[in-house]
Amino acid sequence: MKDNLPTLVFATGNQKKLKEAREILKDFYEVKSIKEFDDVEDNWLEDKETFSGNSLIKARAVFGQLQLPVIADDSGLSVEALNNEPGVYSARYAGENASDQDNLELLLSNLGNEENRTARFITAISYINNDGLEYLFDGEILGSITHEPKGGNGFGYDPIFIPKGYSETFAQMDAEQKNSMSHRGKALQALLAFLER
Ligand code: IMP
Repeated sequence: MKDNLPTLVFATGNQKKLKEAREILKDFYEVKSIKEFDDVEDNWLEDKETFSGNSLIKARAVFGQLQLPVIADDSGLSVEALNNEPGVYSARYAGENASDQDNLELLLSNLGNEENRTARFITAISYINNDGLEYLFDGEILGSITHEPKGGNGFGYDPIFIPKGYSETFAQMDAEQKNSMSHRGKALQALLAFLER
């Protein structure tokens, strides 16, 4: 990492996401978690129907409080045969306090023996720079839903998602391999390309 880089606040408490963003943005920003700041309100109401809308809610709330450059992400899984559900409801598909296991079991049950198992993970990242200008970046990975969970890595729906062109689920891959192709990785790479211009 270069010395004396400006601070970029990532509106997340998720250490894995933080590590990934730090690695990708290391030539431009020192990426800090929102948890490193005292008294920041992080109880956002993510009530928009789009990933970009929800990511912007978080980014604006943090920028408003800290007046520092900020990124916020919002992601989810979109399954073709389920009318693109669970989408923005991915984290609470099986209810407000549902676990990852509850969510993926409900998804497998709702999909049943449906032949069309096409799905995509989608991420939107909102970036607000020092001047308060807002930018949006997207990332997407196409794949298919398995008939049963496989693998112990990752989180969320990783055990039931096989990226197109591969034979293993995200949960069977190590973090480096997953990040190299993931929706979030692509959105962060798009932000990096923008910063490099
Ligand atoms: P978040 O907006 O990144 O916190 O993601 C919301 C929800 O989408 C998570 O709780 C997961 O259920 C799902 N999700 C997002 N990204 C991934 C991923 O990379 N793997 C598995 N599930 C994910």
